[in-house]
Amino acid sequence: MSFESEKDPRPPFTQAFGLRIALWYATLFIAGSVAIVLLTYVLTATSLAQRDHQIINQKLGEYTAAYRRGGLNLLANTVSAEQRTAPERLFVRVVDRGAEAIVLSQPEGWNPDQLETASLRLIDGTLVQVGKSTEAREDLLARFRAVLGIVTLSIVAVALTGGYLVTRSAVVPIRQLTQTVRRIVLTGRIDERVPGPAGGPPGTGGGADAIEELTTLFNAMLDRIEGLVTAMRGSLDNVSHDLRTPLTRLRGEAEMALAGPADVDRYREALADCVEEADRVLVMLNTLMDISEAESGAMQLRREPVRLAEVVARAVDLYRDVAETKGVGLNAVTPVNDVAGGAQDVIVMGDRTRLEQVAANLIDNALKYTAPGGRVDVEVARDGEAAVLAVRDTGVGIPPDELPRIWDRLFRGDASRTERGLGLGLSLVRAIVAAHGGSVEVHSKPGHGSRFAVRLAKHLVI
Ligand code: ADP
Repeated sequence: MSFESEKDPRPPFTQAFGLRIALWYATLFIAGSVAIVLLTYVLTATSLAQRDHQIINQKLGEYTAAYRRGGLNLLANTVSAEQRTAPERLFVRVVDRGAEAIVLSQPEGWNPDQLETASLRLIDGTLVQVGKSTEAREDLLARFRAVLGIVTLSIVAVALTGGYLVTRSAVVPIRQLTQTVRRIVLTGRIDERVPGPAGGPPGTGGGADAIEELTTLFNAMLDRIEGLVTAMRGSLDNVSHDLRTPLTRLRGEAEMALAGPADVDRYREALADCVEEADRVLVMLNTLMDISEAESGAMQLRREPVRLAEVVARAVDLYRDVAETKGVGLNAVTPVNDVAGGAQDVIVMGDRTRLEQVAANLIDNALKYTAPGGRVDVEVARDGEAAVLAVRDTGVGIPPDELPRIWDRLFRGDASRTERGLGLGLSLVRAIVAAHGGSVEVHSKPGHGSRFAVRLAKHLVI
């Protein structure tokens, strides 16, 4: 792949593109204007010629009438009387049967080549001819042509300047877009943005608005990519940091086993510990990746209509044995059996597996932190237009100072010291719920149990 040097501010593609648009624009504009100018000229010339023909024919009519009434004398008088008052002199000739031509009027200095004539033969064979010089008309048309020439030149100048200005304003944003992409590709810096209209929603119509919209969308896309890359970098940092401790422990165990005397039983024990530790690391890694993905918005949610009662039923089934073994009552309270409340079945648009994971994590915690003899209730309900999945327990509760931190990754409260766990369950719950567009909250009092409630907003509920 090769790119033009950074010094060249105009990549050849956009330059040629701009030139092409400018030429097209100018050519069409000039061609249209020249067609209009030509049409104007032709129409004017035709109408002037028609006017002249009308005058000649009218005079011819008048003169033949005079000739018929009073012969050559009356005609000569009429012609000379008219020529004294008329603004323009005409050529008048009478040719009698003996082919003798009598010219009654032939204005001096007239060029016979520029004469337009009409003639009429009378019954006695006499021919009356009337002519008019086209000189005046030619003169007028010549001046008109000069004016039209200047107009056409002005049009060409306006078209070229206009074409240049219009295409420049259209091509500049494209050029800026290209340059930004070029810089990103060359430097890898995704904090570059296309300079454009500051703020405001993109326009809705027109070419310029379409490019404006493209620029805004392109910048929005860069924002999103930058957000994802930053989140990914953050996750990678966190994950590598979080994995350091268990991996150091794993290594420590293996090292200790190797340092001691060679003993198969000790080795076996150390290897078993290593396997256990490696499993923890794997689970931790997967959970951390899930949390990072959900938090950065990269988690693929397979959304489908999900009946929350089914999600709860599956999660409760999964933990029934654990609850029984521990002696904690585990119940699902769903709208299906909540006939008295008349609540309908609650169906949401969500990822079934992920929602089951949420329910399972909350139930797992509730069972872990509830002493034998206590109870855990899992509810599904509608709250106004929202859907709520709540897990309530009669367990140890959470001290107020720990409450804000329970959602932190790897945070484990005092009560959890004797319990298994990684401190990632609630982080995952919150990340998955947030990825769905919902929220999760907790009410808890030490010694009086806790209630975790997942709320899925109106637009997620069917
Ligand atoms: P883990 O349970 O693996 O320690 P979690 O992220 O699921 O990690 O929970 C974080 C902390 O929140 C727990 O260590 C515990 O102190 C507290 N916690 C969570 N759920 C409950 C609950 N139902 N009752 C009491 N404390 C809880």
